[in-house]
Amino acid sequence: MVSKRDYYEVLGVNKEAGDQEIKKAYRQLARKYHPDVNKSPDAEAQFKQINEAYAVLSDPQKRAQYDQLGHAAFENGGGFSGAEGFGGFGGFDDLGSIFDMFFGGGGGARAQRRGPTKGADLRYNLELDFLEACFGAKKRINVSRREVCPHCHGNQAEPGTKIKTCPQCNGTGQVQSVKNTPFGRMVNVVTCPRCSGEGKIVEQPCSHCHGRGRVQKARELEVNIPAGVDQGFQIRISGGGEAGSRGGSPGDLYVVINVRPHRFFKRRDDDILLEIPLNLVQASLGAELEVPTIDGQVKVTIPPGTQPGATFRVKGSGVPHLHGSGRGDQYLTVKVEIPKRLSAKQKELFQQLDETFEDTGKSFFDKIKGAFGK
Ligand SMILES: [Zn+2]
Ligand SMILES: [Zn+2]
Repeated sequence: MVSKRDYYEVLGVNKEAGDQEIKKAYRQLARKYHPDVNKSPDAEAQFKQINEAYAVLSDPQKRAQYDQLGHAAFENGGGFSGAEGFGGFGGFDDLGSIFDMFFGGGGGARAQRRGPTKGADLRYNLELDFLEACFGAKKRINVSRREVCPHCHGNQAEPGTKIKTCPQCNGTGQVQSVKNTPFGRMVNVVTCPRCSGEGKIVEQPCSHCHGRGRVQKARELEVNIPAGVDQGFQIRISGGGEAGSRGGSPGDLYVVINVRPHRFFKRRDDDILLEIPLNLVQASLGAELEVPTIDGQVKVTIPPGTQPGATFRVKGSGVPHLHGSGRGDQYLTVKVEIPKRLSAKQKELFQQLDETFEDTGKSFFDKIKGAFGK
């Protein structure tokens, strides 16, 4: 924090300056450094300092305290807390009022008049089959939304009846209110209470929309779902939301995708994951298999000695990329199934097989027995 400048110095007046002189100096400086006028980077900080100095020097009690103790008068629980903000004054929200006071109302961007308002956005949850999400689809959806009233075309009056200019605001939608602040009376521009800022008064409200200007309407819309969408994907239909007010543009419609799970396929981004069950013989000897992909069956060769959990890639059999060309892959993960029940014949064959494993098998179990000291 930069050390604080003397308040008299900030306003460019001497210690004997009278109220009128202080006020005059303040007005000149505030006009010069108002952030709406002065675009230099330190104008806002200057403006704050000027306001802070004026808030103290224009108050006889605070000024007396300041004259005695300097800035220390307000350091702990005084009117101000450091250089930030100036207590008792509502911060920068009130700058508009100050601006209006100096430059006469209608300070441009701060005007309160209710102009066209954009309509609200809508959300529609659309459920898709797994394969529809992969390859895209055309879907018809029913959306209920507010649309511009076809009877009054949104102007809220029964056709053929009069629309009067609001007498309280003369059609501007704004009225001036005067309030007292630490700086004196301030003129503020507020929304006209009589016409709610519309600037007009309808004599006979539209019979179709009861003067609302908009009506609820159910619409059937066709949505093109691109290939490659996934859970949570949003499709924005520009202008598909609710109608705006006072001629404002309509909101957008967001179609949010929810994908139903598939019985066998799982998805990881644009890759498809599939578990394939092999029996002991297929895993040991290898096999030629017909495996499903999202395009249909493909032939896959499983090599001899395939272990449980081994994965194989079927290149290009995944989901088409949503952005750009190309596709993901399909990954096959091997699951070796151990038979739960065996016929007498199979049991005999397994036993014969077991005898042929004696060398490798026994040595392994001998090692384990060794570990327990038997
Ligand atoms: Zn209407
Ligand atoms: Zn009015």
